[in-house]
Amino acid sequence: MNTMHGWQQTGPGGTDTLFWGELPRPRPGRGELLVRVKAAGINRADIVQREGRYPAPAGVTPVLGLEVAGEVVEVGEGAGTWQVGDAVFGLVAGGAYAEYVLLEAELALAKPESLDWAEAASLPEAWMTAWLNLVVLGGLTAGTRLLIHAGASGVGAAAIQLGRLFGAEAVYATAGGPHKTDFCRQLGATLALDYRTEPDFGARLKALGGVDLILDPVGADYLERNLSALRPDGRLVLIGLMGGANSTISLGTMLVKRLSLLGSTLRALPVERKMPLAQALRERVLPWLLAGQARLTIDRRFGFGELAAAHRYMEDNANLGKLVLVAP
Ligand code: NAP
Repeated sequence: MNTMHGWQQTGPGGTDTLFWGELPRPRPGRGELLVRVKAAGINRADIVQREGRYPAPAGVTPVLGLEVAGEVVEVGEGAGTWQVGDAVFGLVAGGAYAEYVLLEAELALAKPESLDWAEAASLPEAWMTAWLNLVVLGGLTAGTRLLIHAGASGVGAAAIQLGRLFGAEAVYATAGGPHKTDFCRQLGATLALDYRTEPDFGARLKALGGVDLILDPVGADYLERNLSALRPDGRLVLIGLMGGANSTISLGTMLVKRLSLLGSTLRALPVERKMPLAQALRERVLPWLLAGQARLTIDRRFGFGELAAAHRYMEDNANLGKLVLVAP
């Protein structure tokens, strides 16, 4: 079989550009597994890519989809001890919205029996992003005072839990609406602010003693308030630009408080830098999830044929946590 079906686009744009059609079935290269997709996580990045504002990295399929759970159907040369029939899940550079996708063997995790396909597919992008930016880049330790923006997003839900599990002194979150701030508190946020009714989170958090580390997917809109919330030597990790890319700030605050501003993208990192994140998911996060210390946050499962509805649900900012596509 040299072909498969997958979600493709007539061109960049809205959900009306999406169509389910035939395309070449990928062949696993060295160190790769070919996986029959059982479930694929949906991420905000997929929507930005669909709109033409976040092209796939060079050499990566334009088919959307950054995380997968499924069954190994072919094992490339040098792909370790994985075997046909293994149930795996993991982060992919693209292509999970299809019947088959390539997964780097080094990034594959064995799916625990107690997780179903959708549950496994909901984990890699959110938790590996949270781990990279809070632990590896952000230096999260017990005692860190943390602020997570978009706290009810897929990434935000993982990040709040990671802060709590690391024993952060405080885990503050922002989100839009009381049902979202409730959700953040259920996940372990010390305090969750509804930015619709309380837009000046900077002043509020400063009054509470400030924060050491901020995870921010919003960008321009939030920069000045972020700098005001940070304590001396604080770190702001920018992972998205949902509020815009351009901002004018006074560098004085950065200088006087000795602040660091880090930009970060997971997708573009080489496999070697993703491997420790997959290891953290396997050895730290999965045990927390399986022991009930962390929880899965799937809001809704959509059938593979319901992709347009799933994207619209995410574009409406309706999801609490993750959305997943489930194969027939
Ligand atoms: P998601 O589940 O779709 O959630 C995004 C949420 O962000 C929305 O539900 C909305 O919640 C909030 N939001 C949207 N526009 C906003 C705005 N202009 N200002 C403030 N809040 C806004 O998203 P996700 O897939 O978890 O991703 C979350 C963010 O992390 C995205 O920006 C994504 O691109 C980024 N990300 C970055 C990396 C990286 O490596 N750099 C990796 C993964 C994700 P409210 O209703 O609360 O506003």
